[in-house]
Amino acid sequence: MKFCPNCGSILKAKDVDGTKYLGCSCGYIDDKGTSIVTFNDKKHVHNVEVVEKSDAPHVIVEEACPKCDNNEAEHWTQQVGPSDEPESNIFKCTKCNYSWRDTHHY
Ligand SMILES: [Zn+2]
Ligand SMILES: [Zn+2]
Repeated sequence: MKFCPNCGSILKAKDVDGTKYLGCSCGYIDDKGTSIVTFNDKKHVHNVEVVEKSDAPHVIVEEACPKCDNNEAEHWTQQVGPSDEPESNIFKCTKCNYSWRDTHHY
């Protein structure tokens, strides 16, 4: 049993054009079944494209490798985050090929 949210009277079943619904003498109509609630569940997926290497020529810089005792590394910059962030310095050891990032600039 349902009650009218407007006046509190008991809703009465009505049948109009073959469609059954609950209505009140005050004019309220329970339109359950006629209103369709839609959810926009589109998720905003932010894809960050990770580029392995830039096309810029790599330079050899004097940089201590954190993995081995080598003191030379390939150096290039790469955009790793959103475009409003500064490029990261990428280093790659010429000896063991270990690569790492650094934030200080040359
Ligand atoms: Zn009512
Ligand atoms: Zn190394």
